Parts: sequence; structure tokens; C-alpha cells
Amino acid sequence: MSTNDNNSNAYSDFHLQFIGGEWQKGKDDSINTNTNPYNGDMLGEIQQATKDQLNEAYDAASQAQAEWAKTTPAERAAIMYKVVSILDQRQDEIVDWLIKESGSTRIKAMVEFSSARAITLEAASFPNRVHGEIRPSNTPGKENFIYREPIGVVAVISPWNFPLHLTQRSIAPALALGNAVVLKPASDTPVTGGLLLAKVFEEAGLPKGLLNVVVGSGSEIGDAIVEHKAPSLVSFTGSTSVGKHIGELANGGEYIKQVALELGGNSPFVVLKDADIEQAVKAAAFGKFLHQGQICIAINRVIVEDEIYDDFVERFLAHVKTLNVGDPNKQDTAVGPIINEKQVKSLKEKIAKAQEEGAKMILSGEIKGQVVPPHIFTEVTREMDLSCNEVFGPLVGIIRAKDEDDALSIANDSMYGLSSAVFTADMQKGLRFARGIRAGMTHINDISVNDESNTPFGGEKNSGIGRFNGEWVLEEFTRTHWISMQNEPRQYPF
Ligand code: NAD
Repeated sequence: MSTNDNNSNAYSDFHLQFIGGEWQKGKDDSINTNTNPYNGDMLGEIQQATKDQLNEAYDAASQAQAEWAKTTPAERAAIMYKVVSILDQRQDEIVDWLIKESGSTRIKAMVEFSSARAITLEAASFPNRVHGEIRPSNTPGKENFIYREPIGVVAVISPWNFPLHLTQRSIAPALALGNAVVLKPASDTPVTGGLLLAKVFEEAGLPKGLLNVVVGSGSEIGDAIVEHKAPSLVSFTGSTSVGKHIGELANGGEYIKQVALELGGNSPFVVLKDADIEQAVKAAAFGKFLHQGQICIAINRVIVEDEIYDDFVERFLAHVKTLNVGDPNKQDTAVGPIINEKQVKSLKEKIAKAQEEGAKMILSGEIKGQVVPPHIFTEVTREMDLSCNEVFGPLVGIIRAKDEDDALSIANDSMYGLSSAVFTADMQKGLRFARGIRAGMTHINDISVNDESNTPFGGEKNSGIGRFNGEWVLEEFTRTHWISMQNEPRQYPF
């Protein structure tokens, strides 16, 4: 039994859509069946939304946004503070949902809860941080004003791996900055990725229509969300393949719109020969196996300098063998279940392919249901599937680098550029190495899994475009408007 089954104050009605501030039944024939990835328990069924309901959501958002944009910064900040307070009051309930719906271990659920809370608190400061500018003009008698306005209606499409946080990091800034939102959570996490947050914002007193949650399959309503006339920005977090499709739709359809694309990653974790090996081993284990490796910034390639390779491998293997695998609800579980059977199948294929390609499997274990225990491969080369592609699971390949230059060349040999990490005792060397990496984020003597609400989060190359958090998201969710004022008659040439 989960901790909140006896909580009469707990949110319910998670079989409904949230459109125009009303909880209503989906009208599509299809059903979203929500199950616990660890034990298969049925968590609920949701009748999915039709395109007409999506249109209704966009109409409500457009209408509500016009009024919302006129509210004072203090009014919008107050809603965000109220949301933070509700999150705090309902922390156990929310963590419980993260464990049972997304297969989060207790440790990961707490990390995720804290990140979602932090971005909401940061968003409370946004209404007062937006500011315009006055720029000089070369035209006599002219004044230039640069206004920063809400962008309007924002479409948010979010993934299942950190559903609460990755949804909230778009919707909290969007709303705080005077926009309205139509959100489509991932099919595996309709509650933690959307409906639960709708309940929180509703309880906080957010006016009706500003946040709409439409549950439907990506293939059914995904394109319609992007192609609709109403949104000026599509904030998408998910895989590179779907992201590319969304980018094409947003810029190749009838209505051009801005896109923020937070896509896949292939983070290198580099251990140079002078590193504190014990610390690097612990970091590698946590940065790789947190949430079973299903994180866009999870360590995907461990790259170790030749001189310490064998020592690192031996200690890493010994440490990973101590990790508890299984029930995510238990306090000390490090590795819980994989989100769905499709992902488990893809991991089984990756294990087989790694062996076919000649990697040496030094740790494996029986796959029980959707629980895949850690698998470690050594003598992995940069050409192998484990190195070239995002694994998104508890499998890791360790690559041998001849020296520092070789390690950098391997680290950069990827079509992705999201996060990265390097371990060394020499901070100058670490900084030089970090600056040589083509990625949006690099962490020296830490894991690649880092996200702070006041620092820019995002990637380059096939990892996407745009940045979350702090000033960067503030720019992403507003529009710039140059308004000039001619204070005296201008002399025109004709
Ligand atoms: P996904 O691309 O399969 O799905 C993401 C979202 O897109 C879901 O809501 C899905 O329903 C929706 N979708 C699917 N097809 C669609 C379509 N045709 N039109 C519109 N929407 C559609 O990704 P996922 O499996 O949920 O998440 C895992 C991927 O996300 C990994 O590649 C991971 O690296 C990436 N990710 C990136 C970040 C980041 O910040 N860069 C964060 C988390 C996850």
C-alpha cells in the first residue's frame, strides 16, 4: 500500500482532462492505461482527448492569457509562492506518485521534487525581473524603447523520465511571465507530468484557462498541438527524433512559431590519470544509475585514461555490485524499474549488440519484469553502439583513452552536446579540458547530472536549442518588441 492511500485530502479525479479550468471527460475512443512500472498495478484509466478538446484548450488559453498579461507582477508571484507552499504540504503525496507512476526510486523522487520546487521558487522572481531598455537613436528626435512582453500561449510537451520537474520547468516560468499554457504530458506519466500539477495550480488559485492539460497520444494529437495557430512557442522536452519532427512542423507548417527543444544526450564522464579514483568511482555509479540511467544528462560514456583504467574498472565493479536493485519504494534502493516494456526490449537489444560488437560484459544479472540490473562493459570503443547512441538504461561502457588529448577527442566524438564531466586533481587542467568540450554543460569533479534553477540548462548539436532556468528561460518565454517614438518631425529624403 502506498503512503497516501489513506489520505482523504489527497487529490483525485485523475481520470479527467483539465480544460478551461474544468475537469472533464476525454471524448476520444482511446484509453490511457496508467500502470506502476514496478509491479504492474493499475493506477487509473483516462479517456483520451480529441482534437476538438485540444482546440477548446487553446481557445481557453488564448482568452485567459489576454487578462493574465495585465496582472501585476506581485499577483503572478503570489501564485508561484502559493504553489511552493502547496508542494511542501503535499510532498509525501507527490513523492508517492513519482514512485508509483514513473518508477522513481525514493532517492530520485526526492531529487525531482526538490528540483520542481526550486524552479517554482525561481519563477516567483521572474515577474519582477523582466525589464525593458531605452536605447539611443541615430535619428534626431527619436527615442527607442525595447519592451519585453509575454510571448502569449505556450505549448508544452514533456517526457516521462522527470515528469514533474521537466513539466514544471516550462509551465512555472511560462505562467509567471504572463503566458498561458496547453500541456501534453507523456503517456506513461499523465499524473506526475501534468494532472497533478494542474491540481496544485488550481488549489493555488490560478485563474481558469491559463493552464490546460490535455492527455492524448503523441501520435494522435501531438502534431495538432504544434501546428495549431494559437501557440507562439512550443517548449518540447523529449527524444531527438521527435524533437526534429516538432522543429520541422513548427517552422514548416502554416504558422511559424518559436521552438525550445531539449533533446537527447550522450554525456561523457572523463577520468584523467591524476583524479581521485575513489571519488570518481562513486560519482560514476550515481551519475550513471540514478533513475536507472533514464536521464538525458546521465553518464552515457565513461572514458578513463589508460594508466588508471584497470584500477578504475576494478573499483567501479566492486562498488556497483553493492547497489540495491528492485523495489523503488524502499529507502535504500538505488536501481528501480524501467518505465515500460518497450524500453526494456530496447535495453535487451543493446546488451546483445554490445557483446556482438566485442565489448566485454563484466557485470550482468537477471532481468525480472521491468527491473534491469546494472550491466558493465569494458574494452568499449568509440565506434560501438553503446558509445554512439543514448543508452537510457542501467548499462554502461568504459572506454580506454591513450591520454588527455585522446580523451577529449573521444568525448567530443558525438552528435550530441548536452552535459559532460571531467575528473582531475588539477583544476587548471580541468578547466582547460572542460572548455574544450562542445556541450552546453560541463562539471569538473562532479557528475554530468546537475540542474540548478539559476544556471543555464540546455545543449547544442542534436541535443537541442534553447536554455532553461534563470535569465535564459526568462528570455525564452517572452517576446522582444522595439517601439520607437519620433518626438519631432523627421526630415525624409522625399
Ligand atoms: P519522446 O520523444 O518519445 O516523447 C516526449 C514527448 O513527446 C511525450 O509527451 C510524447 O507523447 C510526445 N510525442 C511523441 N510523439 C509526438 C509527436 N509526433 N508530436 C508531438 N509530441 C509527440 O521522449 P521520451 O521517451 O518521453 O523521453 C526520453 C527522451 O527525452 C530521451 O531521449 C531523453 O534524453 C530526452 N530528454 C531530454 C531532456 C533534456 O532536457 N534535454 C530531458 C529529459 C529527457
